[in-house]
Amino acid sequence: MSQTVEPISCQEVVELVTDYLDGAMSPADVARFDHHLSLCDGCVFYVEQIRLTIDAMGRIGEEDVPPDIRDGLVEAFRDFKGRR
Ligand SMILES: [Zn+2]
Repeated sequence: MSQTVEPISCQEVVELVTDYLDGAMSPADVARFDHHLSLCDGCVFYVEQIRLTIDAMGRIGEEDVPPDIRDGLVEAFRDFKGRR
């Protein structure tokens, strides 16, 4: 029973989301990602935004994440953690 799920940060979710939606992640990483999503509404919302963007564009690379979404979210997390 040593299947420990290592927590990942919101920042990592932002970095990994394209791989996640691409199915390019290993099952272990997907588990960590899902685990984070089960705990973090902000990231659920973020992943949903990216998913919709991919639906609209067909495909997306990390550099294609709309900067306002990406920056806005990273900003939000910083606020969230910094001043709670
Ligand atoms: Zn998060």
